[in-house]
Amino acid sequence: MKTVSGIPVFNGDVIGNTRGIVIGKVFVQESERLNVEERTIPSEKIEEEIERYKTAVNATRNEIASNRDMTLESLGQNLAGIFEAQILILQDPRLLRETENLIRSKSLAAESAVVITHNTQIEIFCKINNSYIAEKINDIRDIEKRVLRHLLGTRSESLRKLTEPVILLASNLTPSETANLDRNFVKAVVTESGGIGGHTAILATALEIPCVVGCGNFIANVKNGDTVIVDAISGLLILNPDETTIQKYQKIIDSGSARIESLDELRDVEAITSDGVKVEILANIEFPQETANVIQRGAEGIGLFRTEFLYLTQESDPTENEHFESYRQVAEVMDGKPVIIRTFDFGDDKESDRHGGTIPERNPALGLRGIRLALKRWQLFRTQIRAILRASVYGNVKIMFPLVSTVKEFRQARYTAVKEFMDELEHDGIPYNNKIKIGMMVEVPAAVVMLDHFAEIADFFSIGTNDLTQYIMASDRGNRSVSHLFSSSDPAVLRMIYKAVEIANITKTPISLCGQLGGDPMRLAILLGLGLRSISCTPSSIPRIKQICRRIAITDCIEIAKKVLQFSNAADVKDYAIREMINLVPDLMDKML
Ligand code: PEP
Ligand code: MG
Repeated sequence: MKTVSGIPVFNGDVIGNTRGIVIGKVFVQESERLNVEERTIPSEKIEEEIERYKTAVNATRNEIASNRDMTLESLGQNLAGIFEAQILILQDPRLLRETENLIRSKSLAAESAVVITHNTQIEIFCKINNSYIAEKINDIRDIEKRVLRHLLGTRSESLRKLTEPVILLASNLTPSETANLDRNFVKAVVTESGGIGGHTAILATALEIPCVVGCGNFIANVKNGDTVIVDAISGLLILNPDETTIQKYQKIIDSGSARIESLDELRDVEAITSDGVKVEILANIEFPQETANVIQRGAEGIGLFRTEFLYLTQESDPTENEHFESYRQVAEVMDGKPVIIRTFDFGDDKESDRHGGTIPERNPALGLRGIRLALKRWQLFRTQIRAILRASVYGNVKIMFPLVSTVKEFRQARYTAVKEFMDELEHDGIPYNNKIKIGMMVEVPAAVVMLDHFAEIADFFSIGTNDLTQYIMASDRGNRSVSHLFSSSDPAVLRMIYKAVEIANITKTPISLCGQLGGDPMRLAILLGLGLRSISCTPSSIPRIKQICRRIAITDCIEIAKKVLQFSNAADVKDYAIREMINLVPDLMDKML
């Protein structure tokens, strides 16, 4: 038995009926080979293809180097040397030259050339029979897989063909891989890399799949079919557990199911604090199919519909009608309750092969993403906005722009783009709500600072604490090496939230919060104390958030918030928040801790 620790992905405490703990058989995504068919390219694309190959090799190098650094830190120089050797193989000038030659002389696509050169290398080694060489072959296979993954960026085939429940273990999952997970079979996910704010974490939460990310290297110690326990509450993966440990966790699973039923009763009650203050509780969704879940968990509307996953789950972009059908379906089911549709936010952690800019970016988080990309990809933006406008007559639909940094961007999006698309519909006699509310995510520090100006042109705000934290702390939300800095309850972030709420209140602009922080019961009192009266969180967190709201008083929350705003670090905020919550609602905390 061996225990690996990672970062627990907070899923509320109502995860399917598992309470975040799953016992099951392993499926290792890393263990398979990518299926590459031979493909040629037009001769005028050869130079571009060689560049694509070089970019993939560089990305692979960085990936292996980061494994080396982490191993060096945790296990020492000897083991880190394994990765050093892999880098040498990857950058072997002969291998690079031969792959380039194949692309050039045979007009082969980069991935086809990679498969040929790596196979040739392996065939040569296979003729020599010793254990050192066998290790080398494994290294070449590993490198090949990594380079191919960077070239193809696609989801593995065998993941599509699961026929029985598994616990998916992977080095990393792309947003589209996670979005495509079949939750009938994938019962939990554990990854070597990734951070709490990354999209493996967010999507797993949306899919209600218990998840632990950022565990460091462990894949080499497991094989398909092994039994493991995933504890997504404490962030643990237990490899080959003994019988006593299995029984202990089975008991926790059984007691969790009983509690879930009692939370169901909260569906139809409002979140009104014990001193009579109403808190609006909305839901975050990624897929239209989640709407039933939203209703079932008792949300008062949808505070964030992350639409980029409509694109990432299919091979080609949805048509205007496909968008329209998705939005109409959600609006109709929500039956007059607010539905805030966020326009696509590709880039950075929501990487997309089809929608990025034309040049590879050194700093994708600071690059062409969110509204910046939408304003450059006019047709893509037009298709989506027209569909949202058309759906706006079927319910209480609102539009929200992501990653707005400047007033100029918001103006362009609202008064040039949306206006132009409204005029087109008008001209064609297609109905839409011309009073539709248009708001923005507050997730760039510049937007917080300038929020009074935004209040003149935006109808509402929603604080995105995932990106806001990333940009305030200068800490990549998906990078486990800097995850110690990425805390949405860092006082620096809390002060920014306070500032945003203050300006929104002065300017009488509705403000909500839709980052992951909103679903964290331990921080709820702080958020209410900072002045928030609307929170949008993952559906699975809603019953617990409602239950706590109904048991605490705003006067206490204000005192707690005042106090934490004076703290100097996130750890003190966390400790204090937990202590205060135990004071305020001891019986509830007892069940959760
Ligand atoms: C956020 O940044 O907090 C947010 C809600 O948006 P996303 O996580 O989709 O970037
Ligand atoms: Mg964001």
